[in-house]
Amino acid sequence: MNMKKLTIPQLSEQIASPLEAIASPQRIAILLAIGQGEACVCHLETALGWRQAYISQHLMALRKADILTDRREGRYVFYRLKSPSYLDFIYTSAKVCGLPQEDLTDLIQSQTYSSCECPHCSPALVPVADLKTI
Ligand SMILES: [Zn+2]
Repeated sequence: MNMKKLTIPQLSEQIASPLEAIASPQRIAILLAIGQGEACVCHLETALGWRQAYISQHLMALRKADILTDRREGRYVFYRLKSPSYLDFIYTSAKVCGLPQEDLTDLIQSQTYSSCECPHCSPALVPVADLKTI
């Protein structure tokens, strides 16, 4: 693709950019809570216990950095990781600090919360007309 070979500094800048975008406990928490599935803001609110405005701010930054993508469904906006490789970053980082992989794997399985009213946690709230397509 690139006719010219990149120099080490140029390569390093590219490699650092996604790492910089996710390198905060808040962003990592959001990526873990989304995991391999997708999540709306209200789900993240329940999963993380933070205010919606605070979460939205990080979601916007992650979307701007091209790490998250979103889709609208009715009144919900669902966020999803553009690549599962972002979870690999987090796994690798956890490994470096000696955290057991099983702890993270358990967290990453898309969890449901009885106190959450998003369509994933409370499918009963989906309008009857939509059920046929599920
Ligand atoms: Zn939920």
